[in-house]
Amino acid sequence: PIILGIESSCDDTSAAIIKGDTILSNVIAGQKVHEEYGGVVPELASRAHQQNIIPVVHKAMKDAKVTPEEISAVAFTRGPGLMGSLLVGTSFAKGFALARKIPLIEVNHLQAHVLAHFIQESDSKHEVPEFPFLCLLVSGGNSQIVLVKDHLEMEIIGQTIDDAAGEAFDKCAKVMGLPYPGGPLIDQFSKDGNPDAFQFSKPRIADFDYSFSGLKTSFLYFLRDHIKKEPDFIENNKNDLCASLQKTIVDILMDKLIAASKKTGIKEIALAGGVSANSGLRQAFVDGREKYGWNIYIPEFSYTTDNAAMIAITGLFKFRKQEFVGQEVAPYARMGI
Ligand code: ATP
Ligand code: FE
Repeated sequence: PIILGIESSCDDTSAAIIKGDTILSNVIAGQKVHEEYGGVVPELASRAHQQNIIPVVHKAMKDAKVTPEEISAVAFTRGPGLMGSLLVGTSFAKGFALARKIPLIEVNHLQAHVLAHFIQESDSKHEVPEFPFLCLLVSGGNSQIVLVKDHLEMEIIGQTIDDAAGEAFDKCAKVMGLPYPGGPLIDQFSKDGNPDAFQFSKPRIADFDYSFSGLKTSFLYFLRDHIKKEPDFIENNKNDLCASLQKTIVDILMDKLIAASKKTGIKEIALAGGVSANSGLRQAFVDGREKYGWNIYIPEFSYTTDNAAMIAITGLFKFRKQEFVGQEVAPYARMGI
């Protein structure tokens, strides 16, 4: 089948076309309007989605050299995400399916982040994880360890009780005066810093769960104390601060993942979500392969942050099982995996 995927859960409007599991196009329109606010403003996001959705879908079809008549089904992000943003993608998908008389497929955004591993390029096929595998899903809104039993059968075995890892990066970056989203900047400055320059305490949390709010608070107090003595403390230590912070976040993430792998005996280990762009985390995965004999799976950079290709591939697995929804479907902002 040829499937059109639509993603609009947060601040990126995206449309993609896949044929079987092979990607034909993946168009993403980001939104610059949020930068000056230091975070995504929901009302502005939904308005921008409305402006972007039609041109983005047009471009996806043009890039894929596919006409609307050739599309077999349309898959869209039903949740989780911002209600106003989800509404735009959902309404568009419903309208498209109705007009073309083709099946409509709802997709869980988090499941899609995990299934991004199964997207294949037309020129080069890559290895995909074998079931069961563990997936560390780390994004702006989520941090969890997912036990993936099958394409559409997933169980969360650990998750954050407060902030997500991406949120921890972004909030700490904000405290340092860096623009939103600060995660990529922390990664960049870390490259020239010493990860052992400063020590930040790690949370003590049961099982495979995470917590990041304590780190954010202690980082804030740490900076405030030093700035009292040295007003330019942040400027003078930017790289070391970023490197030390990044190391702490990566260590927190990896400690639980390693424990989960030991407990379950699973050595197929995948990474997903926007934070998987982080170079420190990627290196930690490579170290895990050396140290624990893991088979590691790190998705293509363009499929880690929000994109419609992952929505389309999830749509494919549901298409094969004939899991369709009707026109009465509504977005679900707090949808679980
Ligand atoms: P969710 O998928 O949970 O709804 P989201 O879609 O907002 O959240 P993503 O787009 O998957 O999240 O990821 C964005 C997050 O990834 C941001 O918090 C951003 O700072 C972080 N991020 C992106 N690149 C890096 C990097 N190189 N290092 C650290 N964090 C990064
Ligand atoms: Fe996402």
